[in-house]
Amino acid sequence: MSTVIISPTRSPEPAVAPRSSFRTRGPRRSLSSLVYLPALSIAAVAVILVAIGWSSRWGGTSFASSMTNLRVVIVGPVTLAILALFLVVERIRPAQRRPLFARGYRQDLLYTVLNATLVVPLVVALSLSFAEMASKSLSWVILPRIGFIPRWGMIVVIFVAMDGCNWFAHYANHRVRVLWRFHELHHSQEDMSVLTVFRTHPLIHVSYLITLIPGIILIANGAIPTTLLVVYAGVVAFEHSNTNLSFGPLDRIFVSPNYHRIHHRLEGRQDVNLGFALTIWDQFSHRAIFPTAETIRIDTGLPGRPLVVEQGTARPRHLSVFFAQLLAPFRPLEGRGDLATRPFGLDDFRDAAIADQWRPETFQVNTLLEAAAESATR
Ligand SMILES: [Zn+2]
Ligand SMILES: [Zn+2]
Repeated sequence: MSTVIISPTRSPEPAVAPRSSFRTRGPRRSLSSLVYLPALSIAAVAVILVAIGWSSRWGGTSFASSMTNLRVVIVGPVTLAILALFLVVERIRPAQRRPLFARGYRQDLLYTVLNATLVVPLVVALSLSFAEMASKSLSWVILPRIGFIPRWGMIVVIFVAMDGCNWFAHYANHRVRVLWRFHELHHSQEDMSVLTVFRTHPLIHVSYLITLIPGIILIANGAIPTTLLVVYAGVVAFEHSNTNLSFGPLDRIFVSPNYHRIHHRLEGRQDVNLGFALTIWDQFSHRAIFPTAETIRIDTGLPGRPLVVEQGTARPRHLSVFFAQLLAPFRPLEGRGDLATRPFGLDDFRDAAIADQWRPETFQVNTLLEAAAESATR
């Protein structure tokens, strides 16, 4: 895919909702025409959590050592070596051929720097504060040591449960409008690479705090070692790479680059293939679409480019686009007709049936069943 002035083939502009659908009255109307108020609530949660953690001295946990641990996971030497290896692999076996320094890569490099500098202390502060609050106010949820299960077995349980929580938080990112406004930045990338894993809004981490819950509940039984978290971070980065790679039958268990790319596709719904490391959650919820020859080279991004992207201007304006992208969740809803066409609502599982129809094999089965039912009624 061309990465510069020529934009990829894009879907027609989404239907624009009548402006009145977002209209409110009075002072709130004037305020909401300036800022998207629900986004401020996410920022407020982050500020309150940081303030609580700060005042409780992070529950006695060393902030500095926690930050060192997280930095090791996110941008430690092993993680960076893994990322470098993946960058080479995607040159050798690319899903889409692109220049070495495509615009999207340069933009995601800015997000990598943001993660290494500001996001690490923010996530440490949020995590320590959340863990301290949860373990104090919900101390009854912490299980005692379960002797008959070996420690490694407990670590597997925590790991799988953590991945399940990541799936649910990601699902919520797609189904709750205010979270989507922070998450859409991740989906705006048209030149995906391993660095796209860093293309996230710093405040979206508020929604992923629930992934700490399994570790808190089972804290007496073990904790996931940093090495395993490094591997997990590497796997999640790799699935964003521009590598033409599926895992064959193991796709039924693990998320591959070809599998996750379908989640980022430009055309078709994106609230499918939400898994981080495991595909089982998507299969349980009928949201798994497995790669085919047609899906490997699909374009990625957001239809109609509702968010400013680095590929959208004649000249690269990486820094101004970067700050505009970070401010985007707070911009008012007016003019965002595309949001009216997205399904929001956590309880709406009916749409999962649509995902089933996208799976060629399921579609064939459906067609056969319908044909059989028709002939039976004749
Ligand atoms: Zn997503
Ligand atoms: Zn992704």
